[in-house]
Amino acid sequence: MKRRGVAILGSTGSVGTAALRVLARHPDRFRVTGLTAFSNAPLLAEQAAQFKPAIVGLVSNGVTQHEEWRGGPECLVQAARAPDADIVLNAIVGAAGLDATLAAVGLGKRVALANKESLVMAGDLVAEACRQGGGEIIPVDSEHSAILQCVGTRPHTEVRRVVLTASGGPFRSWALDRLERATVSDALQHPTWRMGRKITIDSATLANKALEVIEAHFLFGFSYDQIEVVVHPQSVVHSFVEFVDGSVVAQLGIPNMELPVLYALTHPERIEDTGVPSFDPVDSSPLTFERVRSDDFPALRLGIEAGRRGGAAPAVFNAANEQAVALFLEGRVTFGDIPRAIATSLDALGDLGGASREALISADMRTRAYVRELYR
Ligand code: NAD
Ligand code: MG
Repeated sequence: MKRRGVAILGSTGSVGTAALRVLARHPDRFRVTGLTAFSNAPLLAEQAAQFKPAIVGLVSNGVTQHEEWRGGPECLVQAARAPDADIVLNAIVGAAGLDATLAAVGLGKRVALANKESLVMAGDLVAEACRQGGGEIIPVDSEHSAILQCVGTRPHTEVRRVVLTASGGPFRSWALDRLERATVSDALQHPTWRMGRKITIDSATLANKALEVIEAHFLFGFSYDQIEVVVHPQSVVHSFVEFVDGSVVAQLGIPNMELPVLYALTHPERIEDTGVPSFDPVDSSPLTFERVRSDDFPALRLGIEAGRRGGAAPAVFNAANEQAVALFLEGRVTFGDIPRAIATSLDALGDLGGASREALISADMRTRAYVRELYR
């Protein structure tokens, strides 16, 4: 059997390292063709020594002792375009992942996509690049992997609606006045998943679920009216699909990203893998569900409104959120400022026109500058 080549962008992150654990178990099926990271040179060097990819890229590359490494943001697209990379696992955080996604699907490759921000920012462009180049996006995000698995081979016209589950984050049961004063360390205590800092804050504001609603819209073509969100604190049911006959199918599993990563690599096949402990329904009990507190976590509603508005509004939503989260992590704005920055940005810039890559990148940059100016 020919081994499939996999490039991992963002290999030093939470999803990237989960992906390498999966690939290390299946050397007969996959080989690593490229590894990229932003700045963690020691871990990248360790990974490169173990997996021996042809391309190693460090975006922030100044002077390292590794002359053969590539540097700058171009290394992401180079690793994505390399002919021996059949699958590109995009585990970069943020809008920085867009060009690599476009490059890979434009060349007919599979992108195993964790980097939801690139799809939110430019969903129509990514879809167009898939059509033109023959590439495909297979989600790594657990909720979207669940939807893909639940829908199976049935046409989307047989789906009435999907229900994305949300853990509710660390502040699920906090009162509103306490939320306003939540600290960075409070917000980084995610109850069920160990993830990078940006998505962990997004889970606390529920901006992550807004990104995921838009992601579901672009991945599967469901209208916003067909996508709902329910809080499920245990993160065991990864999402529900209700079909037109009223029957509901859910996908379950322990919260471990190695499961959706492996499925994104092998879809529609499944292969033997025992790296993740077997599911025990009794150990996972009880499974509970709650309504979302939409008024107390306005980022969710703001993101869905931006999705409905279309055009550059999702890119503005995403950029305002990325910039506000960065300022929050630096201790320069409060937790409550994150949704306020998003709302103000959408009011000011949500109608920016243009659907090209350049227009969306310009909307992204203008929004970041706008948010920085708000809190200068
Ligand atoms: P992380 O912060 O742990 O890792 C991010 C990776 O991207 C690192 O390897 C980092 O070096 C690289 N990176 C950061 N900035 C970059 C830039 N400007 N250019 C190039 N590379 C850059 O993040 P994560 O938790 O692994 O999340 C990665 C993506 O996966 C995000 O889009 C996130 O929303 C999504 N995701 C994560 C999880 C999870 O369990 N961690 C689950 C679902 C989706
Ligand atoms: Mg998710």
